[in-house]
Order: sequence, then structure tokens, then C-alpha cells
Amino acid sequence: MRVGILGGGQLARMMAEAGGPMGLTFEFLDPSATACAGALGALHVGAWDDPDGLDHLAACDRVTCDFENVPAAVLADLAGRTRVYPPPAAFAGAQDRLVEKRLLEQLGIPIAPVAAVDGRPDLLAAVEQIGYPCVLKTRRLGYDGKGQAVLYSHEDLEPAWQTLGGQELILEGWIDFRHECALTAVRSGAGEIRYYPLSRTVHQRGVLRLAASMHQPPPALRQQAEVAVGALLDHLEYVGCLTLEFFATEDGLIANEYAPRPHNSAHWTIEGAVCSQFENHLRAVCGLPLGSTRRRGHSVMLNWLGELPDAAAFLRIPGLAWHDYHKQPRPGRKLGHATLTTDTLAELHAGVESVRPLLDPETASLLDRLAL
Ligand code: AMP
Repeated sequence: MRVGILGGGQLARMMAEAGGPMGLTFEFLDPSATACAGALGALHVGAWDDPDGLDHLAACDRVTCDFENVPAAVLADLAGRTRVYPPPAAFAGAQDRLVEKRLLEQLGIPIAPVAAVDGRPDLLAAVEQIGYPCVLKTRRLGYDGKGQAVLYSHEDLEPAWQTLGGQELILEGWIDFRHECALTAVRSGAGEIRYYPLSRTVHQRGVLRLAASMHQPPPALRQQAEVAVGALLDHLEYVGCLTLEFFATEDGLIANEYAPRPHNSAHWTIEGAVCSQFENHLRAVCGLPLGSTRRRGHSVMLNWLGELPDAAAFLRIPGLAWHDYHKQPRPGRKLGHATLTTDTLAELHAGVESVRPLLDPETASLLDRLAL
């Protein structure tokens, strides 16, 4: 079966790595001639609406995405010509934070207080309603902490407006969370849902740095997350993997956002689960039986941002796997990740202590926030 992927980044690359052994072949459409998935299939370089590139994808048996901001018109066009999963409707919420929050709210999933901000008067009214601290976010194209400004007092209003004003925005209440977590699940075309274990996540300046499989989440936490993700998947008549990110508070989980694709918080499933999120995404998209989401032991994943450290020093650590996405270094860019997977918690702790001295002090200190 031939799978077309809109986007040729590391998610597409890891899908191709997972799909090859199942006999799947891949075509990618990406605006960049150096898109890193290109080494693993046919790369068509062009804009998202490039007619030639879209013809190539339309000729594939299935089309999926490694990027949620593909224009709706492109998805609709492809959906008329081949099978596109996840369903294009799932992307509307993922492309607009306000639509997303309203959808989560409609499904009874708790979210932070939120207000639409379309102009300066709205901002003042929203601050009045929500209070400080709060965070101003662009509705569209914000990711990894970009397009956001945290407001602590009236003094922060003007600088935030100077940077973000003129775009459609939302103002969101700041959540004083205990920790963050994310749940990835896969849904088949027949409606079968399988949930991965919860991932505990640690962000730094809005970007995911660390994730770990949670070995003993409080049952109520896991149940709340599964009910929320299940409701979202069924509502969207979803096919493929989806991740919903949460803030864990004293009063339970508050949903932040969802991604209609494999997600960085579940990269550890490559080594740490029986069937990885990438393989299960493809199984669902291609109409194949779903694989087990059960975890194998304990896992911690570290993202490499901006530059790749020396692999050899890390590869000496038993159970550590290395993923170099083959991308050009650029400040802050996700270039790769490492996953440490062990049979026992004691081995995980030992492995993490071997990793710690190889990290810069700031990242090393974040390890404690995983509460392993
Ligand atoms: P986002 O782009 O919405 O995924 O935000 C990236 C990260 O910024 C989150 O994972 C949190 O660490 C932080 N963040 C965003 N919104 C909030 C909020 N309302 N309250 C607390 N932290 C937030």
C-alpha cells in the first residue's frame, strides 16, 4: 500500500521508519527540498496546494499528515480523490485555538477560562473577566510556545499587544498546574480505540523537553484522560493517532490542546510500547488491525533542540536509543531525541543518573520534574 503524507518532517520520517517493515511505501509533499523524510520515500517539493504534488498524493491509497496546518481546501480536495485520515474535520479544531476550546467545552472536557480577543477593547474586557496571570495566544499557527505572551499585570498589556495585536487571539487563564501530561490513543475506522499509557511531560519555554511513560498514574487521572480522549475521538469519527495535552491540577485534569497526528510526547512508544504510535497510526490509516499499546518497561525521552549532543557518550548507557532526524541545526529546532527504556524502575533511575551529567545544568534540573 502507498501512503502519501502532507509534510516531510520528523513525524513523517518516523512514520516511514515504522511503515517500511509492514510493506508500506511513502510519498511526501513538503515546501522544503531538504525535508528530512525525503530519504525514506519520494519527496515532492512544493506548496501545500501545489497541483503536481497533490496529484502524486491523490494517486496514493491513503493520505495522512505530519503537520496540522495544511489548508482545509487542500484536505477537502484530496478527500474527494483518495482516502484521507485523520478525517479533515479533525483539523479545524487543531488549526484554531478558539474552535478547539469550544469543541472541548461542548464535549464536557474541562478547559482553562478562555475569551476571544479580536481587538484592543476585547483584550481589556477579557482581562477584566479572566484576571491575572493569563496568557494571550494567537488563534492560528502558534506552536511550541510561539505566538504567546504571559500577562502578569496591566504593565504587560502594551508590549503583548505590540507583538501579537492585529491577529485573531484568545486570552486564557493561567493554570497553576502540579504537572503536565498527555494521552495518546489510536482509533480504527471501525471505531475501536486503544489508549497508550499516560505520558508525563515537561515543557521549557513552551517547548516539550522531556516525556516519560507514567507507570502508576492515579486511576482517576487515567480514567479522566481516557474519557476525554475517547469522547473527542468518537465525536470526530477519528481514524489514526491523536494526542490530548493536559494540565494536572488538584481538582483533576484541564485539557490544553490536541494534535491530530503522532505527537512528540509519545515518541517513547517506539521502544517503550509493544506497537509504537507511528505504527499504530499507519495501521489505522491503512485499515490494518491495531497493535497493542501496552508499555514495555519504563521509558524517558529527551528532545534535542538546536544542536545534537555527541551520540557516543549517550549510547554507552544501557537501554538508550538514539534518533537523529537528519535536519539542519537551527536555534531551538527539534533535531532528534533519545529514549531510555528499561525493564525495571531501578534500572531507569540508574540510567537517568548516567544521562544527567551529560546534559546542560538547566535541562538536567528538569529531569526532577518527571518525578520518576
Ligand atoms: P501550548 O502552545 O498551548 O501547547 O503551550 C505550550 C506550553 O506553555 C504548555 O505545555 C504549558 O507548559 C505552557 N502553557 C500554555 N498555556 C498555559 C496556561 N493557560 N497555563 C499554564 N501554562 C500554560
